[in-house]
Amino acid sequence: MAQSGHTPPRICPNCDGFPAVAITLGGRDRSGARRTITAHCSACHGTGTAARIKRVGVTA
Ligand SMILES: [Zn+2]
Repeated sequence: MAQSGHTPPRICPNCDGFPAVAITLGGRDRSGARRTITAHCSACHGTGTAARIKRVGVTA
């Protein structure tokens, strides 16, 4: 049985630990590279970790 008292990993639940992704815009620039933008997770602001949430009244 797993211990219920340990601290769970604080991976951001919104991006599951992958906070930044490159999105292609289509087309290529003068050097032939794809034009991309980098989007960061809005929940964790690109850190990939979630802020620790205080759980009030939760009993396990
Ligand atoms: Zn995130």
